[in-house]
Amino acid sequence: MEQSKRKIGVSFSRTNFRFYWDWFAKEELNDDLELVELSFEKNNVEDILTCDGFVLTGGVDIHPSFYKASDEYANKPDVFEIERDVFEKKIYEYAQQHKLPLLAICRGMQLVNVLEGGKLVQDLDSGNQLHKKDTEADKVHDVNMEAGSLLFEIAGSRNGDVNSAHHQAIVPAAIGENLRASAFSASDGVIEGLEFDDKKNKAFLLCVQWHPERMANKEANPLSQKIKERFLQEVRNTNMKKLIVVNPATEETIAELNQDTNESLSHKLIVLQGGQKVWASVTLNERITVLQNFSKLLLENLEELAGILSSEVGKPLQQARNEISGACTRIKWLTANAEKYLADELMTDEEGLQEKIVYEPLGVVCNISAWNYPYLVGVNVFVPALLAGNAVLYKPSEYATLTALQIEKYLKAAGVPDDVFQTAIGKGDVGEALLDIAFDGYFFTGSYKTGKHIYERVAPKMVPCQCELGGKDPLYVADDVADIKAVAAATADGAFYNNGQSCCAVERIYVHENIYDKYLEAFVNEVKSYKTGLPTEEGIYIGPLSRKEQIDVLANQVDDALAKGAAVLTGGKRTGAKGYYFEPTVLAAVTQDMRVMKDESFGPVIGIMKVASDEEAIKKMQDTEYGLTASVYSNSEERATKILQQLNTGTAYWNCCDRVSAALPWSGRKHSGFGSTLSYAGLRAFTKPKAYHLKPSKA
Ligand code: NAD
Repeated sequence: MEQSKRKIGVSFSRTNFRFYWDWFAKEELNDDLELVELSFEKNNVEDILTCDGFVLTGGVDIHPSFYKASDEYANKPDVFEIERDVFEKKIYEYAQQHKLPLLAICRGMQLVNVLEGGKLVQDLDSGNQLHKKDTEADKVHDVNMEAGSLLFEIAGSRNGDVNSAHHQAIVPAAIGENLRASAFSASDGVIEGLEFDDKKNKAFLLCVQWHPERMANKEANPLSQKIKERFLQEVRNTNMKKLIVVNPATEETIAELNQDTNESLSHKLIVLQGGQKVWASVTLNERITVLQNFSKLLLENLEELAGILSSEVGKPLQQARNEISGACTRIKWLTANAEKYLADELMTDEEGLQEKIVYEPLGVVCNISAWNYPYLVGVNVFVPALLAGNAVLYKPSEYATLTALQIEKYLKAAGVPDDVFQTAIGKGDVGEALLDIAFDGYFFTGSYKTGKHIYERVAPKMVPCQCELGGKDPLYVADDVADIKAVAAATADGAFYNNGQSCCAVERIYVHENIYDKYLEAFVNEVKSYKTGLPTEEGIYIGPLSRKEQIDVLANQVDDALAKGAAVLTGGKRTGAKGYYFEPTVLAAVTQDMRVMKDESFGPVIGIMKVASDEEAIKKMQDTEYGLTASVYSNSEERATKILQQLNTGTAYWNCCDRVSAALPWSGRKHSGFGSTLSYAGLRAFTKPKAYHLKPSKA
């Protein structure tokens, strides 16, 4: 798909923001460019990823901690805006990582200088007369452009008139690494322009100390007009690969995000490797507090986050809220038990010898994730990984990226350092690229097909690799259940909650022949009562499918079943003029050779089969390549347990289904994967135990 408009992120300034906006918002933007306000006040970091170029604007002095100087100096501001410094640092780093053009004005230039390792003259003192804004207007003065500089090439002349309004400055002795001055104030030698010295493999960067956006006679002065024209041209020349995010309920594009590149991914690993060492040295208690803060922030922002989740995966709002609060319940358990399972363990303490286990973090782990429960399956991995002292590269599904960006934002707001958690944006090709990078562990949640591929690709690295994969989870209703109607309602919920898009959704139902008719009738009535519609409407139980391709998968399963003799009792086809809706579908008279009873449906389609005995049920339940969960409904624990013991699944349910607990290991068998998340096993999965044999030397 052709990219719509290229976007220019203009960093918000409390003073004079309108000048920047208006300077760009003129006719030059035509139909192909658009402005995005990047505001440290709104902290809309996620919007940085939508931009193809950036403008860093003027404003309050940069906090001196950024260039390791004292915050006591003449004419310092009443209040610094350190949040802005941090926010704009992210913009600058993003632009550099992705080689996107950046125009830095006044304070913007000073920020670039300090981010590249330079320093600032904190106050120009008598120089203020020349540069500082007076009550009427910015001070106009001459600048000389350096021969051979980019600025000189753009301006087309060696000197010109500029306006300035600053009391801090950059001098040649304190210029950042790989920067060169491109212009000097004619009268006092203060640097008025900066650019990269060695431009090889660098993005377009132009920094000016003056204010091209608010010069008198802007259009006639090349030091305003030509700079703008060139910057816009550079933005037009960008060609970022975009991830298009579509709302599955409306089919509208709701975001276009820059994908990561091989280079940006490699850079992220280096950043994380640096951050992990420091993070691992932070006490476990501090890490626990940070993740508890994260949970609090999720709950405080529940409505907004549920709205974003619902808009990109089509989950009904209430189910989106449930997912987020469910994730917080898991964080509660994980943080409450981290100490117990991650602290050093003293095994033997005999006279003259101690044996102990230390649970060291793996290092930098890569989490490639799925879209169906981005909070839950995400939390299962990155929370224990962070608790154990790892850094995390989080690759969300391309269908849940907006949510991933919120997760990243709130993890950082909670206190996870920037260099300890990074998100990789993109589709399968970005996931594939991660397999070529030297992570210390891979934790995958997704389909069997992708999991198998990842496992094979990662094997030669000899690092831990865990796969939480799909399922074809069976459920058996024995003939001794007390309340058939209640069981039908509970099991239908197990099959259709989240539109059946759960790894542990009930995918096949076997019912004892003695109660089959009654159960089927109650089940179909229950399914017919489900309200389908826009996920944003309260009371909706079935929303759209999250992925368009899934419509064909379900339609093919239904067609295959009908061709082999099944009967559709309700539903059976796509519905709605707009959106990826599929009717909740119940199939009876099904056989084991039908696709709907063999292949993962991952949607609102269920096959229900009559069986004559528990033995037949066991045989049929076992007849699958998967092994995630299995469920038995019966009045007798003994009868249920006897059946469940014979099934090769990681999870067994008696009188419940489609349920995950933080206290229990979540693990698949066969094509459902291997390894565990959650429980003690899921906390320790992100560690490598080191065995210490400690024998003090004799005095
Ligand atoms: P998927 O396999 O299509 O994609 C999962 C992730 O892998 C995505 O981030 C995707 O971009 C990435 N990916 C795709 N190709 C890749 C490649 N070649 N190399 C590296 N990464 C690649 O799965 P999905 O559609 O996102 O999720 C649905 C599946 O996940 C279902 O099968 C479901 O049962 C399973 N799932 C399992 C669990 C569990 O805990 N067992 C939980 C949730 C979902």
